[in-house]
Amino acid sequence: MDWSTYYPKFVDSTTTGTPRQLVKDVTVADIGCGFGGLLMALSPLMPEELIIGMEIRLRVAEFVQQKISALRVQHKDDGLYQNIACLRANTMKFLPNFFKKSQLSKIFLCFPDPHFKARKHKARIVSTTLNSEYAFVVKPGGIIYTITDVEDLHVWMVQHFEKHPTFERLSKEEEDSDPSVKVMAIETEEGKKVERNEGQKFIACFKRLEDEPWI
Ligand code: SAM
Repeated sequence: MDWSTYYPKFVDSTTTGTPRQLVKDVTVADIGCGFGGLLMALSPLMPEELIIGMEIRLRVAEFVQQKISALRVQHKDDGLYQNIACLRANTMKFLPNFFKKSQLSKIFLCFPDPHFKARKHKARIVSTTLNSEYAFVVKPGGIIYTITDVEDLHVWMVQHFEKHPTFERLSKEEEDSDPSVKVMAIETEEGKKVERNEGQKFIACFKRLEDEPWI
């Protein structure tokens, strides 16, 4: 994966060759980032991390990348927003093409499409198979954050992550003390919409456990 065009300020100038290497890896992913509100909120809160938004709709992904470019120009003096980017991807098909094993420390799944009908459940971005892909790209100790306003989907996500041997749900106390949970709850476009409509938000976070030793 050539990340150099996404994070030009982080290209390692001491190396040559293609693709150009970065001085650090992308470690945070917002899957189905929509219009990128969470990316822009996380950028100043996690200045040491490289954060990627992944969005299946081409026009939306382009819009977010253009917005980030504009913010970078506006903030050229303080260097803000260099650590976020957005790419067009169908993560259900191609997530492991983008990351090495254990590369990520956080994945956000914010207000994923609910796909209400039973015959559409296979399109949900949480499933037994996809959870194994998340387990591959997230390092032990890393966290998957989920939030939705659809209780049925919340129950589905909790069931699928709890059933997976590599994940353990965080306690309410752990969730409450994690600043990323607070940001996720208020900064996405969908979250704001739910807030305006005085809807409920269901949050669940899951820690990626160490792998069992091979016998
Ligand atoms: N996370 C944003 C928020 O909370 O405001 C957007 C939520 S929106 C309901 C769900 C987003 O996921 C849409 O922008 C949709 O295009 C995107 N999406 C759906 N399936 C996807 C996939 N397979 N890969 C990447 N993005 C996907």
